[in-house]
Amino acid sequence: MRICVLGSGSAGNAILIEAPKGYLLVDAGFSWREIKSRARRAGLDLRGIGALILTHEHADHTRGLSTLYRRGTTIVASPGTLRALGHRFRRSIHLDGDLELLGLRIHAFPVPHDAVAPRGLVLEMEGARLGIATDLGEVTDFLLGKLSGCKALIFESNHDLEMLLSGPYPWHLKLRILGPLGHLSNDAAGTALAELAEGARAIFLAHLSQENNRPGLALETVARYLDRWDGALYLTYPDRPSATVDLFG
Ligand SMILES: [Zn+2]
Ligand SMILES: [Zn+2]
Repeated sequence: MRICVLGSGSAGNAILIEAPKGYLLVDAGFSWREIKSRARRAGLDLRGIGALILTHEHADHTRGLSTLYRRGTTIVASPGTLRALGHRFRRSIHLDGDLELLGLRIHAFPVPHDAVAPRGLVLEMEGARLGIATDLGEVTDFLLGKLSGCKALIFESNHDLEMLLSGPYPWHLKLRILGPLGHLSNDAAGTALAELAEGARAIFLAHLSQENNRPGLALETVARYLDRWDGALYLTYPDRPSATVDLFG
């Protein structure tokens, strides 16, 4: 199972996973053309996408949806997300609990975020698990339980608290981001990852704010919480693909 975060942030999110029976995309916040070109940059030759899982309906996760659907991709999302998108997809699968997709076992669970029915994910193959939680307002014991024991994690590290508070956003937006249905700070990510890192080989920091964070600061803050962990910590970017990690390599 090869993993690459093609792009992440409020301008768009897409995670590409090479599954045994085809390519799986988690979120499509970029056009198909952009997704293909980023995959090529990451060394992956994409002809098509077997299935697209949408974690929720926000535009930074769904921008490429209609092109992918027209090209024959199966859409997988929670019933609430499908409803919120206001489209009757004939080729769609309800993302609820467990399902089998492209040779992967998929487990979906609710996350606290201000969308209709947002989901976090664990993708499993031959006992190796990849956990994904990129838009969430707070870390709960439920979430920690779902993501424990993953070999790789893609986890939100959205903002630096001081940069957000002193930054240019209007107050209502700051409060939304800080609230229990908003986004996680670097410190909140570090605290959660300290609990989740044991046994993980790779952690990607995702959904970094371009206004209220800096890549180096996110990396440094989270790394402080992981001082005894010997895995690899990766950044993800709004404008280019991350490193590619092979869970079995
Ligand atoms: Zn969102
Ligand atoms: Zn988002």
